[in-house]
Order: sequence, then structure tokens, then C-alpha cells
Amino acid sequence: MPSKKYTHLFFDLDNTIWDFNNNSYNALYLALEKLDLLVLIGSFESFFRIYSEENNKLWDLYRQGLMPKKKLIVDRFESSFERNGTPVMVGGAEINEVYLNEMTNQTKLIHGARKVLDYLHGRYQLAIITNGFREVQYEKIQKSELSKFFTKVFISEEIGAPKPGRKIFEHAVKSMNAPKKSSLMIGDSWEADILGARNFGIDQIYFNPGLSNLATKELKFKASVNNFEKNMPIPPSILPPHRGENESKKINTRIISHLEQLLIIL
Ligand SMILES: [Mg+2]
Repeated sequence: MPSKKYTHLFFDLDNTIWDFNNNSYNALYLALEKLDLLVLIGSFESFFRIYSEENNKLWDLYRQGLMPKKKLIVDRFESSFERNGTPVMVGGAEINEVYLNEMTNQTKLIHGARKVLDYLHGRYQLAIITNGFREVQYEKIQKSELSKFFTKVFISEEIGAPKPGRKIFEHAVKSMNAPKKSSLMIGDSWEADILGARNFGIDQIYFNPGLSNLATKELKFKASVNNFEKNMPIPPSILPPHRGENESKKINTRIISHLEQLLIIL
């Protein structure tokens, strides 16, 4: 039997395992309903689009250390209502509290996640590396019945450094006693998960269900890899081997569009 290349798998949580897009849509709807704000905003779809844009923009700043959490959680709601042209009497902090509470009740997972984790659990050491908030991420994991799969959960807020910074990857790999060459990061964020892990020096699998423009733009180099390509419904895009200080060290980047593809690769 060929020896396994990887022993330790590090998963991102939001939109890689836990269906953040759908869950946050539902949670925001329920939160606004509870606060009697739903009737004021017009189209919820359009409000949710605005909210998502504002939230992503502010999260980028937060990740770079340019925005404190306290401001992020208030501004994302207040600026969304402002952009939507809806004056509200309820403060952003209150909306945030109700929203986060609803978030932890949401348990929808990305298609195939449970099946894939069921298979990998016991065969590999599994851990989560996530940039979310501490008070929410643990509850999400617990209520979605994901705890049993993971040896450890690394949350940026606890470690004091978010992805794509090197520190959180280093901390996670060391805490798991994982050799870098046997470690693999799997995530849906090109910047946070893939470039982060790549810069740290471990292989990565880019989970991109939409095969978005970003992927095609960023993955400028394509190459084929023996069995992998044959078995994939969509040809994988592969970055050229990463050349670090050690020229002989190769770091691989692969792309998948369905989580079940991990069952072929791993
Ligand atoms: Mg993610």
C-alpha cells in the first residue's frame, strides 16, 4: 500500500464546511424579523446583498488590523441601513447581538461536508483554522455536530492573529505536532486560506465551488498532475511549485469545486 502523503488536515470553517452564505442569510432574516425591522427595509434580498458587501469590506479591514472588532460589528449594520436608505432607531450593537445569536442556531453545512468528514475522521488528524469570532465559532461547531471530527479548533481571535498571517498556521501546526510536509490546508478563501498556507509553507487545496473569476485570474499557471487530473470532473488548476529559501521544497496548490473530490485526492 502506498504511504499516505498527508497525516494532518486543516480545514477552514466558514463556507468550506459550515454554509456561511446560507446560514447568515437565514440568521439575518430572523434577526430583522425579531427586531421588527424586516417590514422597513423593502426587499430583503437587496438588503442582504448590501449587508454582505459592507460586512466583507469591514472584515478585510479587521483582518488587516485596521478596524477594531467593536466598530466592525456595529458599522456593518448601521452602514447597511444607511446605504439601503432606511432610518432605524435600533443600534448596530443590538442588531449584531440578535444576529449572532441566530447565527449559532443555523446548522446548514456545505454539500458533502459531513460525508467527507465521516470518511476522513479516524484516517487523518483533523483541525479547524478559522478567522471568526470566538463566541460564535465554538457554538456553530457544537450545534452543527462537528466537534467530534476535530482534534482542535484554532480561532484567530484566541490566537491573536488572523489568516493569512503566518502566526496562526504556525501555532496550529505546532499544537497538532504536525510535520509541515504532511500538513494540508483546505479552504475557500484564496487570500486567507490558500496564500496564507502557501506562504507558511504547507500544501493547500482551494475549495472553489463557483470556480469564480478570482480563481481563473489568480491561477495564471496551469499544469497537469498525473492521476489527479484524470479523476477530476473539472481540470485542476495548479500553481507552479513555490520556491522558498529551500529550492528543493515544493509546495502544491490544487483546486476543487466539490468537497467530495477530497475523497479522490486523500
Ligand atoms: Mg471560509
